[in-house]
Amino acid sequence: MKLVDAHIHLSDKEYAEHTEELIADAKNANVAALVSNSMDLETSIDSLRLAEKYPDVVYPALGIHPWNVNVLKENELEETLRLISEQHEKKRVAAIGEIGLDYKYETIWAKQLMVFDKMLHLAEQLTLPVIIHSRGTTTQIVEMLPSYNVKRVLLHWFSHPMNALYKAIDHDYFITDGPPAAYSNGIREVVKKVPLTNFLTETDGPVIYRKPPFNGQLTKPSFIRTVIEAVAEVKQITVHDVAEQIAKNFEHFFNIKLA
Ligand SMILES: [Zn+2]
Repeated sequence: MKLVDAHIHLSDKEYAEHTEELIADAKNANVAALVSNSMDLETSIDSLRLAEKYPDVVYPALGIHPWNVNVLKENELEETLRLISEQHEKKRVAAIGEIGLDYKYETIWAKQLMVFDKMLHLAEQLTLPVIIHSRGTTTQIVEMLPSYNVKRVLLHWFSHPMNALYKAIDHDYFITDGPPAAYSNGIREVVKKVPLTNFLTETDGPVIYRKPPFNGQLTKPSFIRTVIEAVAEVKQITVHDVAEQIAKNFEHFFNIKLA
């Protein structure tokens, strides 16, 4: 059984001292792939470095997170776009992410839109998948996306609204959910409604989950096992069948053969 973490921030400072431990934990728990999502140019470079250091386990997603669009250094956007293009030519990029829009940062709305648009155009041009942050903006994003020629879309930590979920499924987009599937009724409702063929698992580490069974411990790839068990429970199918379908989804979505 191969498990996958389609959304983790391995290049986050919180994880800097723990990389070896996290990779060992992934191997122990049969987590065959970690997609290292980036927040800016620096973490994008770091994600690439980690992918090089741990080939066949770490796959880099490069991009600029909507939270960071206001603190970009001069030329950082252009340099990040260039990095993605260059590394894509060397077949080193798994996806563009984490990109998106966040309603809580509405004071920098125009900048968020500008950066998101540039990233989506690049994904279009390079035929790369995108990993999207859409807090409070899911409906809008699902409506915007068809005007871009981006086929492989992953809406990460999908929580609501259900209407946007149905639209996303109509477009054959994917969603991820993670540890909250074990304790949140809202997320369990999403898991119930999404076809398993449009679903992938994530930890979004180093985000900390305070509720049981996680209890605030450092978020690790092995949490995926608990997520898979929760999905199996909600969907009333075996853990094995859930894991198998999700591994298939991963290979299809990222065009990566799991090692
Ligand atoms: Zn994230």
